Amino acid sequence: MSLHTTKIAPSPMAFVPFVSVDHMMQLVHRIGVRPMLRGLAEYIEEDFKRWALFDKVPRVASHSQAGVIELMPTSDGEVYGFKYVNGHPANTKGGLQTVTAFGLLSNVATGYPALLSEMTLLTALRTAATSAMVARALAPETDTMAVIGNGAQSEFQSLAMAELCGIKKLRLYDIDRAASEKLARNLSETGLEVTICAAPEEAVEGAGILTTCTADKQYATILTDNMVGAGVHVNAIGGDCPGKTELHPDILERGDVFVEYTPQTRIEGEIQQKADDFPVTEMWEVLAGARPGRTSARQITIFDGVGFAVEDFSALRYVRDQLEGTGLGLPLDMLADPDDPRDLFGMLMRAKA
Ligand code: NAD
Repeated sequence: MSLHTTKIAPSPMAFVPFVSVDHMMQLVHRIGVRPMLRGLAEYIEEDFKRWALFDKVPRVASHSQAGVIELMPTSDGEVYGFKYVNGHPANTKGGLQTVTAFGLLSNVATGYPALLSEMTLLTALRTAATSAMVARALAPETDTMAVIGNGAQSEFQSLAMAELCGIKKLRLYDIDRAASEKLARNLSETGLEVTICAAPEEAVEGAGILTTCTADKQYATILTDNMVGAGVHVNAIGGDCPGKTELHPDILERGDVFVEYTPQTRIEGEIQQKADDFPVTEMWEVLAGARPGRTSARQITIFDGVGFAVEDFSALRYVRDQLEGTGLGLPLDMLADPDDPRDLFGMLMRAKA
């Protein structure tokens, strides 16, 4: 199926396919984690290259002391999609995920939902695919990446960078060594060379890509200016909320900053620490060849990644296309479907036991 095909045939049935966590895991294993990361990156890149078609709005966020709950909608005119996602950094202490999500695709022509899916796993996959798609376009040639913050996102980030950017060596740092040990264990059969470091300064040594994926609801300084050498690519994805950043603001002055959708990143990204006119380049411009990416070996490139609705749309589109013929996707009875569309009440009354 062409990557450009976004139309969804109206379903004759009122059932909506639902991809549960179990079915998502089965789908990932059928495809393979690394091929799926590559496939997702292809779909995301396709959609970034047709950026102008999409409805774009910063995500709608509901903040609390504990975290944030967000809705992320978009449409390409034929298909509409949204994701519900939360970010609660203290959740892991109580045995809960920091990030959980689900999402939906629907048909613009009828407004009928066409796919409902878990997106906790899918978000980790699409975030990693986006990071690697960006790094493929901007990073220097390197086989080494530092990963600071070794939680739920970190294996996905590592494998996507291995698959798309040729990373072979990982240098890990987390304030909780158990998280780094978990990451090392999970990647032990991948062929990647993994070193657990005692300090973030040690983790960045010799790395051409510096990934920060920490979770803390504060202006944190995961990377200080002296840790970022000439020519590196910074993949900063953990700061994705007002009041939550990872980079010392001086780093942003030394490099060129690349973002997904500027209005959202000015609210949520590293550049919230800067004035509203701080210069940035949107990644779709680089991928479409409209603006340059890396221009010299000594240039520092910074991906200020916060996660944008188009990436979720692409990910759901990918899942929808891969589901065909697999038998995966549970039929969900979520649409009332009276024989006479105007007789909703009659349908209700006929259901009385
Ligand atoms: P997680 O809670 O599973 O892991 C975070 C890790 O960071 C933990 O192991 C923690 O010990 C470590 N950490 C916290 N402070 C640190 C510090 N100062 N130095 C080193 N390590 C530190 O969270 P996760 O699901 O992996 O998500 C990580 C971050 O990425 C979150 O902030 C989340 O909101 C964000 N995120 C962004 C996107 C995006 O599209 N940009 C998508 C998903 C998640």
